[in-house]
Amino acid sequence: MQTSLPYRKINILSEFIANQIAAGEVIQRPESAIKELVENSLDAGADSIIVVVRDAGKGLIHIVDNGCGMDREDLELCCKRHTTSKVITSEDLEKIITFGFRGEALASICSIANVEIRTKRRTSDGMEFPGLRLISEPTKGESIEPFNADFGTQIFVRNLFFNVPARRKFLKSNLSEFRYISDTMIRLALSKPNIRFTFYDEDTLIFDAKPSSLQERIGDILGRDTTENMFPLQAENNLVKLSGYIGNPANVKRTSANQYFFLNGRSIKSKSLNYAIFSGYEHILEKNNFPFYLVNIQIDPRIVDVNVHPQKLEVKFEDERIIFNLLQNAVARVLQENNLLRSLDIASNEASSPFLVINQPNQAAPTFVNRYTGEIMSNQKQFNYNRKFSENNFKSQEQDVPQVSAFSAIFKDNFESESELIEKEAFPKPFLFQIHKKYIISQTANGFIIIDQHAAHERVLYERAKKSIQKASSNSQQLLFQINISLNAAKRSIFKLIQEELALIGFVFNLIEESEIELTAVPIDIKPGQEESSIKEILEQYQEFEKIMKTDKQDLVAASFACKAAIKTGESLSLEEMKSLLEELNRCDNPSSCPHGRPTIIEFPMTELDRRFGRI
Ligand code: ADP
Ligand code: MG
Repeated sequence: MQTSLPYRKINILSEFIANQIAAGEVIQRPESAIKELVENSLDAGADSIIVVVRDAGKGLIHIVDNGCGMDREDLELCCKRHTTSKVITSEDLEKIITFGFRGEALASICSIANVEIRTKRRTSDGMEFPGLRLISEPTKGESIEPFNADFGTQIFVRNLFFNVPARRKFLKSNLSEFRYISDTMIRLALSKPNIRFTFYDEDTLIFDAKPSSLQERIGDILGRDTTENMFPLQAENNLVKLSGYIGNPANVKRTSANQYFFLNGRSIKSKSLNYAIFSGYEHILEKNNFPFYLVNIQIDPRIVDVNVHPQKLEVKFEDERIIFNLLQNAVARVLQENNLLRSLDIASNEASSPFLVINQPNQAAPTFVNRYTGEIMSNQKQFNYNRKFSENNFKSQEQDVPQVSAFSAIFKDNFESESELIEKEAFPKPFLFQIHKKYIISQTANGFIIIDQHAAHERVLYERAKKSIQKASSNSQQLLFQINISLNAAKRSIFKLIQEELALIGFVFNLIEESEIELTAVPIDIKPGQEESSIKEILEQYQEFEKIMKTDKQDLVAASFACKAAIKTGESLSLEEMKSLLEELNRCDNPSSCPHGRPTIIEFPMTELDRRFGRI
């Protein structure tokens, strides 16, 4: 038997120790004290709040507000633990609309700093209350005395953490601590544009933001550069209302610092909502590029749980998907409406072809000649597509094309009559070629673009499939012979889940048994011979996408279909095929990325080429 068992009598913690323990949770650094105190001022109905810090908040935090103030009874209680004017019943807890509700902040701060509160209660009915001052020291307790205070409340927090050396040591440099503070002050100021926030570091005014619209407040706090590059966002359904601004994807930052969510006026962080915005941008953002956004989420407090973390940064939603989808769609719509998704510019695709077309009287197909090399590309069928182009089309481009005398030198001898030569531009627009059976290259007005054939086709099929599903109108091709496909258990359950959507994009089938389907028609984009594999691959792909893409079923089916039915890398494309692919891509709502993020097009502007060749 052990000789010294660790038995100890249970004690009730003294209030002071309990407060210090709680303080460790509620007040991690000067910034958290400032946040709590400013939130108290907001809860008190202040419309002007002044914050002054010295020594990054460790020396002094001074908050002045013009809120309701406190009378003697309130002042006697406010620094005790679990004293609050904001939650009385557990029903109140169900629908918290104030910032505070735990009644812990002042008690915590008083246990780790010297605190002075000057206050005078203000009422709307003209009742008079005396001004008061409370002095509190962690070891000595509090005293209250009459004081000639202004209406509202002023709080001085001096020597924060002076009696908690471990905590003080854990603080970072003044510069870092000040950064935490200013970040919080910025969030507070952005969350309440109708309230005046004045913020000093020592004697330096950091900002004095007067009451204004959200747009002006953003300008005051984040700068005109932000307001000039942002677009309003609005969306709502019966549960949620979203409003705010999102930034131009061309104007991004290297850090996520300029991204703000406010839930019922409270700054929150949410990885999943952040992802909703990110995917609303359809991944046209490059990695580590962060656009500005500020989104206010208004939601019935009964369906959010704010009682999660003492710092109340993480918030739980009852059904996150509702907000997720609303937000994602709203972002995509704003970008589309403002034409912010990079446009393809194929329409202005002014190619000057190196090829000439020679139509000879006694030959059905024309001959193609490379102007620059003199090489003859004889009668290739795939070069034949462009004969419908009008005369005007090539004339306007003719002057851009350098004349190469080799042409006449070679051909004068070969033809009897020069007048029988009909010169035509071979590929007036667009001029395309494929490299490595993978990429398509085309000239544009400003330079050239490289198109990923698979990603581009995927985008085209994805949008087409989505439209088919939404409009319930598909394009099927009947199979000569029906195909029976048996599905394993995993595929069967996915098939059951998405069979309606599959039918909407053009798969026609009968269920023979639990595990077998009879396919009679497929969407026109499915190549002959790939009917069975395509449906199986779509089911597999769906399962994969479901794990990584937070979108709805229709979207996932469309994306899975697009991924599997799209032209693969390694397939060679005829000019006709490339041309129609680009035309279709150009008609897409979001041509610049594939459904799950990779770009479809990379553009090389002339300036980039000129720069790299040392011309500029
Ligand atoms: P909580 O905010 O959770 O109620 P606090 O410890 O932050 O808890 O504050 C306790 C109480 O003190 C508040 O409920 C409020 O009644 C009062 N109080 C604190 N700060 C102010 C202020 N600036 N103006 C008026 N009353 C205040
Ligand atoms: Mg509070």
